[in-house]
Amino acid sequence: MYSVTKEIKWEMGHRLTLHKGKCFNLHGHSYRAFITIESNGLDDNGMVMDFYKFGPVKDWVDLVWDHAMMLNEADPIYNLHQLGRDYKLVLVPGEPTAENIARWLFEAAAKILPDEITFWISHVTVWETATSNATYNGI
Ligand SMILES: [Zn+2]
Repeated sequence: MYSVTKEIKWEMGHRLTLHKGKCFNLHGHSYRAFITIESNGLDDNGMVMDFYKFGPVKDWVDLVWDHAMMLNEADPIYNLHQLGRDYKLVLVPGEPTAENIARWLFEAAAKILPDEITFWISHVTVWETATSNATYNGI
């Protein structure tokens, strides 16, 4: 078994609507995600997957999530934001925790990466702070 991992970084705001502590407030993080691809074998180049193939995933993160505000679609605060000028808002079907962000990035990467049977996404780990991360394994 081989694996390769690509790191992707972005800045994003969020809040947790049900949190009893400080995460209830609008705030932001410098997110780091590690996307790991596994394969039972190597291609003709001796690779699991060429790292450049992660490029479209990074492009997607930059376009959709970087410098956005990610809010639970059930969070009433997004209506207040609609009063202002257009801004980068990402409404998601759940609390924007590191766990859920790892799952959503896993699912986005699964759609973006080439559909080749020689490899598969093993897991995505999202670092929300320098000391805290969450992982989604896709199972
Ligand atoms: Zn947070």
